[in-house]
Amino acid sequence: MLGPPVSGKGTQTDLIAQTFDVPHISTGVILHAIKIDLSNPLAPEVMGFMDQGKLVPSELVNRLVAERIKRADCKFGYAMDGFPRTLEQAQFLDQNADVDYVFLIKVTDATIIERMSGRRVCKNGHTWHLKYSPPKDPAVCDTCGEPLFQRDDDKEETVKSRLAVYHGEMDGIIRFYSDKGALIEIDGEQHIEDVFRQIVRRLVNDLRSKIGWK
Ligand code: AMP
Repeated sequence: MLGPPVSGKGTQTDLIAQTFDVPHISTGVILHAIKIDLSNPLAPEVMGFMDQGKLVPSELVNRLVAERIKRADCKFGYAMDGFPRTLEQAQFLDQNADVDYVFLIKVTDATIIERMSGRRVCKNGHTWHLKYSPPKDPAVCDTCGEPLFQRDDDKEETVKSRLAVYHGEMDGIIRFYSDKGALIEIDGEQHIEDVFRQIVRRLVNDLRSKIGWK
């Protein structure tokens, strides 16, 4: 599952995993678990990259992914997000796995900026959105009464630089899958259920054509 930050790709990958009863593999989650595991010798290295917002080297991430997809629970497939993040990772995946579907959740940069810059959080981690799920008072958390603030990485300037990083990383990967004819574009500017409906329709149509069911 490919898509920019706040495109909802994690949510959609989760829905696919639950609906089709396959594991949800997220390299962000795998790496986070390593980072906080004090007994893991890889923790300091992984933490160094993640805390600076840098990509963890592909050599390590590729190895973690290869180990994960070999596990028995992946026998009937898996839904993956957060990977590939570089062209090198896409090529690695191509050589080590059968990628059946590549979905790209399309959301414009303007929407991403709106989604992120309207987000407000409190110190307890409750999340609101000034437009989509507004608190009664824009400065106070309805759940716990604590003050609301904007996270540094949700500020418009930071969002713009994160988007530049995303395009730098992803444009080549998108071209890679598009040249193979494997890319399925999904309109991500809709409600969660409607985005998911598009994904399921594309899967069903593909399966129908494979079994010759017109
Ligand atoms: P995410 O939760 O997908 O935003 O990932 C959180 C952090 O984990 C990223 O900022 C990277 O430091 C690291 N990370 C996740 N996936 C990858 C990947 N495929 N390659 C390299 N680093 C990754």
